[in-house]
Amino acid sequence: MLNNRKVAIIGCGFVGSSSAFALMQSGLFSELALLDANYDKAVGEALDISHGTPFAQGQVKVYAADYDGIMDAAVIVVTAGAAQKPGETRLDLVNKNVAIFKSILPEIKNRNYEGILLIVANPVDILTYAAIKCSGLPENRVIGSGTVLDTARLKTKLGEHLSIDSRSVHCFIIGEHGDSEIVAWSSANISGVPLNDFCEMRGHFNHHESMTTIAEEVKNSAYEIIEKKKATYYGIAMSVVRICRAIVMNEDYIMPVSSMMHGEYGIDGIALSMPAIVGSNGVEKIVPITLNYKEQEKLRESAAALKSIVEKLDLPCE
Ligand code: NAD
Repeated sequence: MLNNRKVAIIGCGFVGSSSAFALMQSGLFSELALLDANYDKAVGEALDISHGTPFAQGQVKVYAADYDGIMDAAVIVVTAGAAQKPGETRLDLVNKNVAIFKSILPEIKNRNYEGILLIVANPVDILTYAAIKCSGLPENRVIGSGTVLDTARLKTKLGEHLSIDSRSVHCFIIGEHGDSEIVAWSSANISGVPLNDFCEMRGHFNHHESMTTIAEEVKNSAYEIIEKKKATYYGIAMSVVRICRAIVMNEDYIMPVSSMMHGEYGIDGIALSMPAIVGSNGVEKIVPITLNYKEQEKLRESAAALKSIVEKLDLPCE
């Protein structure tokens, strides 16, 4: 039986351990199980994180586990996989990480897991597709973290640009979590005020130039961080907590997670990010936000870039 207060993480590197640390503090869970191909790494991270629990919001047991020990988790977060090296794109990781997923997904499938699988390893859209095909889970229970992080980066930048709390910024990055991602500028607003009107209220009038610069900075921020400190992990850790909260609290919260497309905007048979309602059943519905013609074109290009990779995948379970 599933334990709604238990989360598991597969892969305890920078992203997995930071997510575990953030989840331990979130108050959402009373059990946090860590699994890694390197068992000692999982044990070491569990010990270290458990020593912070006396200062957490509630009692949390943190421990290393095997596959049998994580099957009752309400959410399994998969962060196992090679990370980008400086100069590498996320799509460069396909072969390495699909191979890793081929060892993980049968373990989950063979145990008839009943919870939600949250894919974080990159390229996240491709690995979400692989997980949908190979985990044996219904599509709605396989979620990619998608552009939740990119959207948070955009909100942070816009908040700074406009001297406004980033939580008052309403916008989405959609498509691939990667180089072909798209800012859905046409639906962006600041608490209901159209973005350009708010910008002018704050003394910014060069809309095209600002949007181009901000979109580029957001898209390239992972490259910048990796160049400077080798890996990105705190922003994604907070994104993992936010997605887990929507699931275990059954929030029906709308966020741009990666999920399987079925004809929306003319896109079919790949996973990418669109705003979706997320609750205890995982992805409950993709929300058809209005996109202008240019955004729709770019979305289809992003989908085509992902499709060309997916078509070459050699998944034993397809
Ligand atoms: P890392 O190298 O620090 O950690 C990877 C971990 O996975 C290691 O501990 C390794 O032992 C483990 N691992 C490898 N194969 C395994 C297997 N078969 N079973 C269990 N564990 C296994 O890398 P990282 O910096 O933590 O990044 C992890 C992944 O997350 C990368 O693919 C990275 O690109 C991705 N990432 C995604 C986002 C996002 O927004 N989705 C953001 C940052 C990083």
